[in-house]
Amino acid sequence: MTVIDLVSYEDALASYDPVMGLEVHVELGTQTKMFCGCATVPGAPANAQTCPTCLGLPGSLPVVNATAVESAVKIGLALNCSIADWCRFARKNYFYPDMPKNFQTSQYDEPIAFDGYLDVQLEDGEVFRVGIERAHMEEDTGKSTHIGGATGRIHGASHSLLDYNRAGIPLIEIVTKPITGAGDRAPEIARAYVAELRELIRALGVSEARMEMGQMRCDVNLSLMPKGSQTFGTRSETKNVNSLRSVERAVRFEVQRHAGVLDGGGVIVQETRHFHEDDGSTTSGRVKEEAEDYRYFPEPDLVPVAPARAWVEELRATLPELPRLRRNRLREEWGISEHEMQSVLNAGALDLIIATIDAGAPADQARKWWMGELARRANETGTELTGLTITPEQVARVCALVAEGSLNDKLARQTIEGVLAGEGGPDEVVEKRGLKVVSDEGALGTAVDEAIAGNAAIADKIRGGKVAAAGALVGAVMKATRGQADAARVRELILERLGVQG
Ligand code: ADP
Ligand code: MG
Ligand code: ZN
Repeated sequence: MTVIDLVSYEDALASYDPVMGLEVHVELGTQTKMFCGCATVPGAPANAQTCPTCLGLPGSLPVVNATAVESAVKIGLALNCSIADWCRFARKNYFYPDMPKNFQTSQYDEPIAFDGYLDVQLEDGEVFRVGIERAHMEEDTGKSTHIGGATGRIHGASHSLLDYNRAGIPLIEIVTKPITGAGDRAPEIARAYVAELRELIRALGVSEARMEMGQMRCDVNLSLMPKGSQTFGTRSETKNVNSLRSVERAVRFEVQRHAGVLDGGGVIVQETRHFHEDDGSTTSGRVKEEAEDYRYFPEPDLVPVAPARAWVEELRATLPELPRLRRNRLREEWGISEHEMQSVLNAGALDLIIATIDAGAPADQARKWWMGELARRANETGTELTGLTITPEQVARVCALVAEGSLNDKLARQTIEGVLAGEGGPDEVVEKRGLKVVSDEGALGTAVDEAIAGNAAIADKIRGGKVAAAGALVGAVMKATRGQADAARVRELILERLGVQG
C-alpha cells in the first residue's frame, strides 16, 4: 500500500485553488427501458426483465423510448441548457461482461442538451452558479456480483454472476463545466449542487433520484492549481460517490491528497479513484493518462433525435417552479429562517408540511407537528417521516381539533399516538380513547371546587394574594380530569372562585 500524505485542509487552501467537475448519472423512472419494452421494476428476480435487445443478441434492434427523450429535454430546460435541434446516439465501444453488446449506446459530440447552468444556494444563503457543459442520454449497464473473494471485487473471486435487469435502463448524464472560484467552499458547493440537482430531478417528476438506491450517482473530478495560476492541474476522478455527505468528503479528501502530492514535488496522475465510505478516503483505480479510445461512432440502428421547437416550448411551459425559488418563497410565507428551512429539508418534511397546509392546517402548526412530535416518533422507530402511518390530512385534522379547543397539546399527542398505532383516524381515536378536552363548564366547576376544598391551605394563600400558588390547584384539576381540561380556563375559574384578579 502506498502511504498517502495528506496536507491539512486549511494549508492546502492557503496554497492552491481547487477546480471541480461533477458528472452525475440519473436513472430515469420510465416504465420501460431506453431501447426496448422491458420493465424496470426494482427488485425483480435476476434477468427477469430482459429481452434480445437489452441482452445484445444478434439481429435485435433498438427503438428509442419517447418518455426518456421527453425527460431529457425537461432536465435540459430546467438546467437552462440549449436543446439540440438534431442529435444522434453514438456507440461507445468497450468490452465488459456487464455490457452484453460490447458497446454502450450513449451520446458523444451531439448531446441533446448543452451549455446551461444551475444556481445553488449555500447554507448561508449565498447563491453560486454552476455551469452545465452538457446533459446527454445513455443506457445503464448490468450488474456483476463477484463470488468467492474476500473483498467482493473481481480479484480473488472464483466466479461472477451477471444480472442484466439494469442493462438498458435510461440514464441522463449531467456534466458540469469546470467549477472554479469555489475556494475553501468547494466541498460545500459540490454537495449543494448535487442536492439541488436531486431536488430539481424530483420536482420534474422524471426520477425519484434516490442516491442510496443508485438512482443518482456522482463522479467527482478534482484538480488543484497554485494560487494565482489560471492553468488547470491534472485531475483525478473519484467514481460513484453515492451520498451527499460522501460527495462533500470526497472533494475534501482529494484536495488534501492532491496538495500532499504537489507539495512533495510529485505529479498527479490522471486516474479514476474509488471512494471509501468508512474513512472517507479514496484509493487508486484505473490510470487514465490518455483519453481512452472508445472508437465512438454514430449509432446506425437508431434514427436521429430532432425535438420539434414547438414541442420543446410546450415542455418549457410545463416546468415546475425551481426548487430553490420554491423553498425561498415558502420560507418567507412561513416566516422561518434559512436554518429552520434547512432542518425541514434535512428531515424530508417539506412535502408533508405543504400537504398538511393544503389540507387546511396553519403553516406554523403543520411545521410544529411534523418537526416535533412526528419527527421524534420517526426517530424512535427508525423510519423516515414518509414511512409513518399518518397522513397529512390526519395531521391537519389534529390541528383543527386543537384550534377549536377540543384537544390540548397533550391530548393531541395521544391522538397522534393512536393514529400511528392503527386505531383509526383522529376523530375515531379521540372517540375511542375518550380524549376530548373537558369543556363542559359544569364538570370543570365541580373539579375546581373539589381541588379548592382538598387544598385549603393553598387556597388561603391565593386569597391572601399569592396568585402564583394557583399553579398547584391547576395541576390538581388537570390530574382529576386526566389532562383533559383547558388549563388556561381552569386557572380563570380558580381565581374567580377565590375572588382574586389574575
Ligand atoms: P471524462 O469522460 O474523462 O470523465 P468529461 O469531459 O466527461 O471527461 O468530464 C470531466 C469533468 O471534469 C467535467 O465536469 C469537466 O468540467 C471537469 N474537468 C475537466 N478538466 C478538469 C480539471 N483539470 N480539473 C477538474 N475538473 C476538470
Ligand atoms: Mg467521467
Ligand atoms: Zn429488453
